[in-house]
Amino acid sequence: MKIRRVLYFFLEVFVKVLVVNAGSSSLKFTMFNMSDQSVLCKGLVERIGLKSPRFIYQRCGEAPTEEVLSIVNHNGAMQAVCYKLIDPEQGVLKNLTEVEAIGHRVVHGGERFTKAVKIDKTVKDGIRQCAALAPLHNPPNLEGIEACEGFFPGVPGVAVFDTAFHQSMQPEAYLYALPRNLYNKLSIRKYGFHGTSHKYVYYEGCRFLGLDPETARVLVCHLGNGSSITAVKGGKVLDTSMGMTPLMGLVMGTRCGVLDAGVVLHLIKNGYTVDEVDVILNKKSGLQGVSGVSSDMRDIEAARLKGNTDAQEAFDLFVHRLLVYIGGYHLLLGGAEAILFTGGIGENSVLSRQAIVSALEAYGCELDEEANQKRQINCVISKPGSKLVAAIIPTNEELMIAQEAMELI
Ligand code: AMP
Repeated sequence: MKIRRVLYFFLEVFVKVLVVNAGSSSLKFTMFNMSDQSVLCKGLVERIGLKSPRFIYQRCGEAPTEEVLSIVNHNGAMQAVCYKLIDPEQGVLKNLTEVEAIGHRVVHGGERFTKAVKIDKTVKDGIRQCAALAPLHNPPNLEGIEACEGFFPGVPGVAVFDTAFHQSMQPEAYLYALPRNLYNKLSIRKYGFHGTSHKYVYYEGCRFLGLDPETARVLVCHLGNGSSITAVKGGKVLDTSMGMTPLMGLVMGTRCGVLDAGVVLHLIKNGYTVDEVDVILNKKSGLQGVSGVSSDMRDIEAARLKGNTDAQEAFDLFVHRLLVYIGGYHLLLGGAEAILFTGGIGENSVLSRQAIVSALEAYGCELDEEANQKRQINCVISKPGSKLVAAIIPTNEELMIAQEAMELI
């Protein structure tokens, strides 16, 4: 892979890989020149099938442009993207045939997909079957794949699964202590999510810190609107905080994370419908629910600095929950060598990182207050000599998907 990249670089061959992330009402895309891993252009079609769909597009080094278009489905969105890619004024291609591969983000690969795969009919059937586990995500992912097949005939598509990295977990990490037939018949188990981000940050963190990825023991904290922490040893996941669904684990923007399952039963016995409980746990809990202020960490931080005690408790709960996971995962790893922060909060929130890393002195990690002021760049934030090194590693899921697509073609 590296040799090929060097060869392309010297031959000045621009290998173009398109990355597509098709959600329920949006389609994001990034076009990479893989000879130097640069972004040629990127964009987003949002509100697909709704009132006033918007198409936001940005060519490298230029300001973003925005248009309102009539787009009713993912095929229409992909068509708009294709027109833009070859637009004489704003495009980055002369012809769509210049695209060498398309990497698709697919949320759920179940137990079937343990790594990225080249897309064919069998793979599409597999993605369809996994839709039972991600009914809101896999169907639009598949629509994105099929739209691309129409516009880029013959160009290989590669499916990169959010769950794949976590498939290296062993049964003691992924089984729930439920009757085994629920696992056998309904595939109820922990799958984990954000896998592409965890994988990217693990390998990038190892490279940046000079750790051997074959043996490194690393805690990856992806902290954003959705958050998860993963314990990775030698590139294998020992455990991760999200579960069968992305509701489990850390305190998130609007999701509750860890919860006594008895609470769900209690709510239902007290007259709440299943749909109401769903909305409470997924949309009205987390930072939003506890603070009553906002799901956004910036608002929580501002409110707590003004003395809002509910916002303070929401922040403290966020940190406390993460520390409980860090303690357990540190033990599983036999002592972590590095803790890496990524995602909107992990990359930007000086106050969150300060609260978390300051609590890790017992593990030989001392916060470097000055370095911790940095944001969105690879940066060590623990003092030299710390036994457990803390660092910011900005995630780049799109690049990871493009790399995986390149490796398969
Ligand atoms: P993501 O889902 O990864 O885009 O992350 C979104 C989260 O990152 C939100 O809770 C934001 O409040 C948080 N975030 C982004 N920038 C900052 C910042 N400068 N300080 C604190 N939190 C931030």
